[in-house]
Amino acid sequence: MDVRETRGLEHGVTSGKVPTHYLSDGEIYYLWFFIQGAIMDPFVRRQLRNSWGFCQRHTVGWLSVESAFHPDYLHGPSILLSDLIERAHNCLHRYKVPLILATGLKNKRPCFMCALGYNSKSAGYAREDIVELGSDVGHLVRFAVETKPYWQKYICPRCVPNTGGVLCRSHLIQELSHSRLSSIPHQQQFTDYILEQLALLGRSFQWEFRGSETTECQASLISAAGWLNGWTELMNFVDKRK
Ligand SMILES: [Zn+2]
Ligand SMILES: [Zn+2]
Repeated sequence: MDVRETRGLEHGVTSGKVPTHYLSDGEIYYLWFFIQGAIMDPFVRRQLRNSWGFCQRHTVGWLSVESAFHPDYLHGPSILLSDLIERAHNCLHRYKVPLILATGLKNKRPCFMCALGYNSKSAGYAREDIVELGSDVGHLVRFAVETKPYWQKYICPRCVPNTGGVLCRSHLIQELSHSRLSSIPHQQQFTDYILEQLALLGRSFQWEFRGSETTECQASLISAAGWLNGWTELMNFVDKRK
């Protein structure tokens, strides 16, 4: 039995029961390092802009680790997601030709955690207490469930059938590749709204505005992550653990 199986059993996880962990130890260690300061490094930020953040797995993992270490202070995600949504917002307002807009919204680089080789089998070198704390997915699950009334209407209907929201970036690119621009006004409204909510959330981290955050502006973190990187993994993560 490996370390992960042992940890799972400590949390009461056996086959067929609700999973309580998500990332490998190596991924937790990297993301712990990332949220300590690498997120602000200009080179890393440039990489993240070129890849529009992380892949679906590492987006969920990043939010999970941030929530585990800073349950009431998701300042890092508010900054990065706001930066990326603003970039998308500028593309949506600037480019009027479908293929040019699609090119602007495409990944220029792969997820850099995947590119570095991090996956579900990556071993960790972090202290055991850091891995233990970082593997607690309960904070993100609670956050997602509490804010769901404000983000569920934006779930991409192609990522998750029988929802009627806003096409995520990837499915919007597919639409644009067929020269269809009909969903652009809706996309513009969506990014206007998310930027406004992320700004309110970001402001609440300033001392003079402390306590001003609302469930609605907190939900914009989930909406932004889902739009940027797709909803499938995020919804599976929440649905399996709530
Ligand atoms: Zn990845
Ligand atoms: Zn989608």
